[in-house]
Amino acid sequence: MLAEFGRTARIGPVGCGASLPDMAEVLGPPFVGDRVYEDRRWPRWFGYGSLQLVVCRCRLVTQVILPVWAGKVTVPNAGTDALVSCPSDVTYSRLTAALDSSGNTGRTWSLVQDTPGQCTVEIEADGIRTAFVFVTVEDYDEPPLADPKLYKVVSSAFHDCPPVTPGHEDEATRPRC
Ligand SMILES: [Zn+2]
Repeated sequence: MLAEFGRTARIGPVGCGASLPDMAEVLGPPFVGDRVYEDRRWPRWFGYGSLQLVVCRCRLVTQVILPVWAGKVTVPNAGTDALVSCPSDVTYSRLTAALDSSGNTGRTWSLVQDTPGQCTVEIEADGIRTAFVFVTVEDYDEPPLADPKLYKVVSSAFHDCPPVTPGHEDEATRPRC
């Protein structure tokens, strides 16, 4: 499931660029969360199972966050679109082996050492950047892990909302689902 997410940047119908009404048609109504910025109506948080989605004013997903540290995630099944629970205990070597063997043709992953205690495997395809963030230490004063553990996955797409046309402002800012 996670290697597939890396390869396609999608989990079932959920992924960057997907429209909220389209997802709701397949998955049912999402969990509606808060505004991302307190003083602005959009973007807004939505959720399906463990997936946290940032949705912009045009009702498009611009970021998908999947926290995996709890060892279990609830995500849409690729075949049935039903929300299913599956294990997410993944180590660096397991994920990279899965990425290499999942027909990841033309899409390379690269390792970024950004923050101490953390490393990130990044895959970029079709304007969507999917980052698998691993922790390399269990605790600050502990020795580095032999095989880093996956902590979260963040998939983001660059998107600029078209300007709001006067007179349509209300329509554009009112949630439709
Ligand atoms: Zn937009």
